Amino acid sequence: MEIVKEKMLPFQWDILNDKATVKIESERDDVNIPTEKSHVIANFLIAAGKKEGNHYGWLFQDSDLYKWIEAAANTYRVKPDEHLLTLMETCVELIEEAQDADGYLSTFYQIEKPQLKFRRLMESHELYCAGHLIEAAVAYAEATGDLRLIAVSDRFIACIKKAFGPNEGQINGADGHQEIELALVRLYEFTGNKNYLDLSYYFLNVRGQDPDFYHKQLLENEKNGIHEGHMPHIDLVYLQAHKPVIEQLEPRGHAVRMVYMAQAMAGTAYYLNDSALLNAAKKIWESIVSKRMYITGGIGSTVRGEAFTYDYDLPTDTMYCETCAAIGLLNFTSVLQKSDKNSAYADIMERVLYNSMISGMSLDGEHFFYVNPLEVDPEASLKNPDKSHVKATRPSWFGCACCPPNLARTIPAIQRYIYDESEDKKRIWINQWIDSTGAFENAILQQQHDFRNKKESTFTITNTNDLETEIFIR
Ligand SMILES: [Zn+2]
Repeated sequence: MEIVKEKMLPFQWDILNDKATVKIESERDDVNIPTEKSHVIANFLIAAGKKEGNHYGWLFQDSDLYKWIEAAANTYRVKPDEHLLTLMETCVELIEEAQDADGYLSTFYQIEKPQLKFRRLMESHELYCAGHLIEAAVAYAEATGDLRLIAVSDRFIACIKKAFGPNEGQINGADGHQEIELALVRLYEFTGNKNYLDLSYYFLNVRGQDPDFYHKQLLENEKNGIHEGHMPHIDLVYLQAHKPVIEQLEPRGHAVRMVYMAQAMAGTAYYLNDSALLNAAKKIWESIVSKRMYITGGIGSTVRGEAFTYDYDLPTDTMYCETCAAIGLLNFTSVLQKSDKNSAYADIMERVLYNSMISGMSLDGEHFFYVNPLEVDPEASLKNPDKSHVKATRPSWFGCACCPPNLARTIPAIQRYIYDESEDKKRIWINQWIDSTGAFENAILQQQHDFRNKKESTFTITNTNDLETEIFIR
């Protein structure tokens, strides 16, 4: 957490502002990957009308800033810091200024293609970015009490609710990259407003109902004279849109998308008491951890589509095992644990935390793995195009920079994974053995471990209210 605060946050802030002098690498040998600069802040400045120029980077570049804010907020919550607060406030004001009057917010489409807003959902990532905005807003509100970013999210959600739905004239489909669904569950947890859960349920439920949805959108654009270039190939399995989510009982397609979707399924089902949806999420989890997960907790066996393949196909030198996929599996698992206090969940979370996730960064906080290899030959990484994604050392930054800020937001939120408490406060679970103090209404728990030398663990439990409380230690 100290490395995140002292190194990663300032380093990533400089990157987002194009002030860091580092080499940005493409995550694999592909000339189409933008690697010149981040340009994230510049994109927002241009969208806000405060700077001239074009959008640069991926369609989802905005999410780098949202993840940075979430990382800063999670850090601030643990240890308040005036400088960090000032930077976060600067970001919030910039986002407020960049947002359109109707609530829409996606700098690429605002700057470059306003006529295509919500019209290329197979790849546009507009709702994916909305999801990261929502997650940042919740973290920022929890840390500071400032609800301005929640208000920005609410304006965007109102715009989305107007555009999407089953009624005539609305778009009846979901974003190609899941994320808004799980973020809406977080917003429900923060506000208690069930409308957010219902919207999450809508996006989960509509996915895969009409496998032609994305193709039809492109055809409609063509009819309206607003199409772009050639008709792209749409891989429905990659997008988990080949059939309804409730029928997708085994993990297929893009690994990050898969676990983000499954996390949303588990969370939405838990709060809506939907046992069919919850069971589908559990089946996906069981299939992942028993047949499609590496010994490190890494997932995604192939670079082609950054995807799952088939049972027990776990090559050690061409795998993907993206850092974001590890974080997604961690979060998916932690949500399942809410509904079922089975230590098997905590076991997998521990495996991911200590292996496939934390391997994504170096101790200097300024170098990161996108792909977390189990085996690497530096010569093969350089000369074999099928292994160009497998780096021998951690680069400073990537053209597609999803992983480094994902780590930065997850590490200072580690307390989420350590303890759990029942709603009636009578039971507390210690799920992870991590040096910490957990302060609950009926008890204060302290745990201290020396695994390396003394091989000793000490748990100190203070019964603050003298009420009977059950403590479960994994
Ligand atoms: Zn990533």
